[in-house]
Amino acid sequence: MAATEGEEEEVESPRFAPMISFDRDRHLTFLEMMYQLLPHPYQTQEINHLTLVYFVISGFHILNALERIDKIAVVNLVLSFQAHPRNKDEINNGQFYGFHGSRTSQFPPDDNGVLVHNCGHLASTYCALAILKIVGYDFSRIESEIILTSMKNLQHPDGSFMPIHIGAEKDLRFVYCAAAICSMLEDWSGMDKEKTKNYILNCQSYDGGFGLIPGSESHGGASYCAVASLRLMGYLEDNLLSKATQSSIIDVPMLLDWCLQRQAGDGGFQGRPNKPSDTCYAFWVWAVLKMLGGHKFIDSKALHGFLLTCQSEYGGFSKFPGELPDLYHSYYGYTAFSMMEEPGLNPLCVELGITDLYLLGI
Ligand SMILES: [Zn+2]
Repeated sequence: MAATEGEEEEVESPRFAPMISFDRDRHLTFLEMMYQLLPHPYQTQEINHLTLVYFVISGFHILNALERIDKIAVVNLVLSFQAHPRNKDEINNGQFYGFHGSRTSQFPPDDNGVLVHNCGHLASTYCALAILKIVGYDFSRIESEIILTSMKNLQHPDGSFMPIHIGAEKDLRFVYCAAAICSMLEDWSGMDKEKTKNYILNCQSYDGGFGLIPGSESHGGASYCAVASLRLMGYLEDNLLSKATQSSIIDVPMLLDWCLQRQAGDGGFQGRPNKPSDTCYAFWVWAVLKMLGGHKFIDSKALHGFLLTCQSEYGGFSKFPGELPDLYHSYYGYTAFSMMEEPGLNPLCVELGITDLYLLGI
């Protein structure tokens, strides 16, 4: 997720040869490679291991090729990252018993160099549950009460969430993770919904977009987190735009205007004004428009053209045209093409960022 954004590739630029169509076979080859063995530039992202797994497994699902993975092995890997309290009393000790992002966060050394049990991370827990949904794991086997009761420890009085129990920033990214976790577990006891809603509303800026925290600059990713969270929490209706003249808890016309202005002259979407177009914002911004019912106002042909300039001859997508692909931007390239109804791709549950097939138990 956001933690993998902004990574610089220390390699030469490849030859730049935009393709004329979405090349599913090349993308499957790319994902197969990532599934078997991540290339060495990802070593620095070991802390986000579960997030990288999410991109690969969900990527296969969007590309309608989930048969290429060993589901049992994936389930066992994901469950091995789960944090478990030693006893019931520990659920209320202030820590979060969700899922770890990696082995290194699972067993960090204490001050004496002794390995001790640490606790889970909201983003990793979102990824873990999403993967388990995708592979059809039986959610009645998940200890949701432990996850949700301890998750309440991460919510602050202003309604925001920290991702771990100590020493971390708090903003809309983790509000979204908490909302997605409650939604997937179908249990909202893990948060104070009213406080959460008010925090999100305080993040809408004067220009209509949402910032990561109240008073901060509007941003495509933050706007997605805000609107998707409100949708999951049941505060925003379907096809909201047609009801914009009626009362809504957010300023829909301003947000619509802000999002539409993010489509740049090259057809791609930028995350903020005066920034270059970037593959991942084709998802973050377009998804907001889709949730508002305003996606029909964008130039989808131009967006299609921009994304193809970011499609690599090795499979996958890059952040900017003509660069080497990375897993993060590849995944959001796939989600964007799914939203554009590319033939052969599975449809997306925009609010959760995975295909909507799990709703049907497929
Ligand atoms: Zn990006």
